[in-house]
Amino acid sequence: MQLQARFYVIFLVAVSVLLFGGCQKQKTDSESLRILASINPLADFARQVGGERVEVVVLIPTGASPHTFELTPKMMVSASHSRLLILNGIGLEPWADDLIDAVSSDSLLVVETASDIEILMDDDHAAGNPHVWLNPRLARQQVEKIAAALQQISPADSAYFAINAQNYLALLDTLDIDIRKHAQKWTHRSLICVHPAWEYFTREYSLELTQVVLPNPGSEPSPRHLQQVIQAIRRVQARAIFSEPQFSPALVHTIAAETGVRVLTLDPLGTGDYLALMRQNLANIDQALKEGPRCQTL
Ligand SMILES: [Zn+2]
Repeated sequence: MQLQARFYVIFLVAVSVLLFGGCQKQKTDSESLRILASINPLADFARQVGGERVEVVVLIPTGASPHTFELTPKMMVSASHSRLLILNGIGLEPWADDLIDAVSSDSLLVVETASDIEILMDDDHAAGNPHVWLNPRLARQQVEKIAAALQQISPADSAYFAINAQNYLALLDTLDIDIRKHAQKWTHRSLICVHPAWEYFTREYSLELTQVVLPNPGSEPSPRHLQQVIQAIRRVQARAIFSEPQFSPALVHTIAAETGVRVLTLDPLGTGDYLALMRQNLANIDQALKEGPRCQTL
């Protein structure tokens, strides 16, 4: 091969690697559909509906908070190979437009799963509270949107997706019923959490999100605000304060030491299994709200 021709081939390969990440394959009929989802719960919904016919990649890694997450070049490469981008919406993914612009692919369908849900406005989320998936009845609507999007990108699999969606919606209904059964036994109604992720949950099950440690995730709360949290714990005689794995627990432990309450965990994102996540959260809420002796008296 002439030197010039060889250089040209190397140049083309290098450009392909840059453009396609070096791992793009020709899609065959038997290959699964590649799906992107912003957070673990939405990725799980896509897996439940898509079954073995989809390959789901979650963009915001386990342990990271959507409120402090930033787009990476790897995500752009990932998106360029994908058929569907599943977002929550309501400001949870401020980087999404940049990602979609970078991909500029006609074959990428984008679905905002919370788009038809009535949004709760609060002072802490500029676009409204995005954490709709923590209410199983609203999660239901997100699953239906994901099923419709999957049917759109692969009409041949429509019936398969529909059956999977129905089966999963039934499990969400059972979760909702179980939470209501637990709620009947809660003698306390007040939650003190890290940030206002649980508003859709607390409203659905007649609880009150009394105070949050981080009203503005990503910035430190003022000493005055922390005093208000401590006063609220004393006023409602809370027995626990809830930490979230995506945020440092230091402040929560400081407040717990000051007030003598237990530290329990409420995880809005989990590691992949939404139903298991919500059942663990439910068990933890039980510990805080069911009748029983307080861990320490104030
Ligand atoms: Zn939030």
